[in-house]
Amino acid sequence: MQIATTIEDVRRVRWADPAQTWGLVPTMGMLHEGHLSLVRRARADNDCVGVSIFVNPIQFDRRADLDAYPRQLRRDCELLQAEGVDLVWTPAEDEMYPPGFQTYVALDAISQVLEGAARPGHFRGVTTVVAKLFNVFQPTRAYFGQKDAQQAAVIQQMVRDLAFNLDVVVCPIVREPDGLAMSSRNVRLAPDERAAALVLYRALTAARDEWEQGKRDGDRLRATMRAIVESEPLARLDYVSAADPVTLAEITGPADRALLSMAVFFGDVRLIDNMILQ
Ligand code: AMP
Repeated sequence: MQIATTIEDVRRVRWADPAQTWGLVPTMGMLHEGHLSLVRRARADNDCVGVSIFVNPIQFDRRADLDAYPRQLRRDCELLQAEGVDLVWTPAEDEMYPPGFQTYVALDAISQVLEGAARPGHFRGVTTVVAKLFNVFQPTRAYFGQKDAQQAAVIQQMVRDLAFNLDVVVCPIVREPDGLAMSSRNVRLAPDERAAALVLYRALTAARDEWEQGKRDGDRLRATMRAIVESEPLARLDYVSAADPVTLAEITGPADRALLSMAVFFGDVRLIDNMILQ
């Protein structure tokens, strides 16, 4: 496994044999089974696999969240080596954003709802860094998790709009045995918050049960999730949503498919989760 920091090194490894297909898994490190599921899918689909590890400062809307973001580069590299990854790219911040940097990629409507409304500037940071990762790496395929449902939708939109020459592959959410979606932020939960965090999955499954009983009204689905989250004293609800999975517009009245999603604070740790119903 090679470890590259500079753009030049990445390009040299990536184009050593132009006939080989490459899968790229962009991450912010602190890897867990959710990330590794993407790596395994990339390993199965491509000749070579690259993983980028970069805690992207411009996608954090809260400085405290950036500062508190956990990091463990050495352990991440061990995990990736064991998965047969070919190239790990750990760019330095001033290589991604050199002095004088002034070009950003920003999407309209799809990036302004849900996470975009709750975290101003977040998706502008995500799409800018992902566009740069794509330009440097030029992968055949790029892998993202359904865990960040809106991020996956936004990136697919960007790839269509700007004609990036690659396929986006979206992989299912990996959960802990008790249902909590795996996240690098979970390690920051105190034990009582970790127990309380199960409320996200409970709320989603309760709404799914209603959906399966034919109760498919958007307002009702949101009310069900809201009531369950609000019944948990350690949880502070940021938003709940029942939206169209492609446009992300909120569902009013009955629907035949839905993306249920929510963001909930436990102390200063903000967790997101979602479920697709059809
Ligand atoms: P992050 O390091 O949090 O930016 O995540 C990197 C990639 O891993 C993103 O595409 C995430 O959606 C994906 N990911 C994170 N957690 C999970 C999970 N529990 N299941 C599936 N994919 C995940």
